[in-house]
Amino acid sequence: MQDRLTDRGLWRTRALVGGEWIGADGGTTIAVEDPATGDTIGEVPDCGAAETERAIAAAEQALPAWRARPAPERCAILRRWNDLILAATEDLARILTAEQGKPLAEAQAEIEYAASFVAWFADEGQRSHGQEVPAPTADRRIMVRKEPVGVCAAITPWNFPAAMITRKLAPALAAGCTIVLKPAQQTPFTALALGELAIRAGVPAGVLGIVTGDAAAVGGAMTASPVVRLLSFTGSTGVGAKLMEQSAPTIKKLALELGGNAPLLVFDDADLDNAVEAAVAAKFRNAGQSCVAVNRILVQAGIHDAFVDRLAARVRALRVGPGVEDGVEIGPLIDDKARAKVADMVADAQDKGATLVAQAPAAGRFTAPMLLTGMTPEMRAAQEEIFGPVAAIYRFETEADGLALANATPYGLAAYYCTTDLHRAWRVGEALEAGMVGLNTGAISLAMAPFGGIKQSGLGREGGAEGLEEYLETKALHWTGLG
Ligand code: ADP
Repeated sequence: MQDRLTDRGLWRTRALVGGEWIGADGGTTIAVEDPATGDTIGEVPDCGAAETERAIAAAEQALPAWRARPAPERCAILRRWNDLILAATEDLARILTAEQGKPLAEAQAEIEYAASFVAWFADEGQRSHGQEVPAPTADRRIMVRKEPVGVCAAITPWNFPAAMITRKLAPALAAGCTIVLKPAQQTPFTALALGELAIRAGVPAGVLGIVTGDAAAVGGAMTASPVVRLLSFTGSTGVGAKLMEQSAPTIKKLALELGGNAPLLVFDDADLDNAVEAAVAAKFRNAGQSCVAVNRILVQAGIHDAFVDRLAARVRALRVGPGVEDGVEIGPLIDDKARAKVADMVADAQDKGATLVAQAPAAGRFTAPMLLTGMTPEMRAAQEEIFGPVAAIYRFETEADGLALANATPYGLAAYYCTTDLHRAWRVGEALEAGMVGLNTGAISLAMAPFGGIKQSGLGREGGAEGLEEYLETKALHWTGLG
């Protein structure tokens, strides 16, 4: 892998603790596979609680100096980090595709998206204004200050190995916090390369730690530590709930980006071309392995058949293969377990009456993009995240029926709808139970907009002004005796 990089120094294979690149105490490693081939591309330290505790101690030690740095200085370092990431886009994308599988073009787009969080928070970090509140008596002043939360921990998933990291690290560092990151076991190399660039940009030793290794051991040490004041997690609702429970004894602040079950409502008055494009964008990006991927496509009866025909043609034409091949649009799923889960869900839907209308050519390690119609709420794919390239279509009659179906889930991350009726656009946009709603678009992830869910999809927001706020505490300073 290293030989394929222009900048070989980006291939980091050790954990980052207290500014040093270290191996696991026991010398053990975890192998990382290329999901397109199953070949091992490298190994990283299999760290546990002890290494994590040392990274937390280093972050605690580095905190006073980092939080005391003027915000413009911290943000200048972030701007350098952004520039270095963008300059290394091609190398970072190669690493990302090698460990995650997505097409190179998508990996490059993710690196640019990841950098956009660094750029955004490099600006936003200079605007953590407090305020003065008018006091009830003449001798008192009330100042409201924003202060960094302190030492933070982050746990990130494999589906966006770069962007899920920068949207936690950048606001934390901008706010004056220090942070220890545990990247997903499947995709540690992108995280380590980003760490290397952070050091080159001037992030001081200890301010950023990256611990690769056993999820339960590292996560356990992070949640148990009284030093860690905030945990930011992106992943499944089940693991999120567990981390919340583990964080309860030390009353940590929590930012949880959990599972979704996004609906896309296509109304009779939708622009057909636009609706099909929105469905393709929101369903097939990253082979459907996204928490905001459309999980249920709800189509009104009047436009149903025309929409299905058009989407079927698009699905049949999707090019599946290794992410490094030119023109490939759908890469492999992350591992055998993911492939088996998608296959089970499709079989369950077919057993319960769904029809497989279209499929793209795919073989071996690659899961074929599929289009299913006749979906019903009893099917597994209606209740759980498919996390694969399967478009599942449900038919509905009235707007009220469609909305009820869309909201009939304990999740509330993203929702999408297509309509050209202005009144319906307002009504439905307000009625959809989700943290993010896209009208006539399948793309809702941008650094300047708050990203996050309601219901069992999580707590807090990332990106936007809100994303910085997560890493800040509010202090009320009361001064009295002023005459
Ligand atoms: P996914 O199914 O997408 O892998 P997970 O929630 O299992 O979602 O994983 C998201 C992140 O959470 C990964 O970094 C994973 O290693 C981590 N993780 C999984 N189980 C635990 C755990 N018990 N404690 C801490 N982190 C965990």
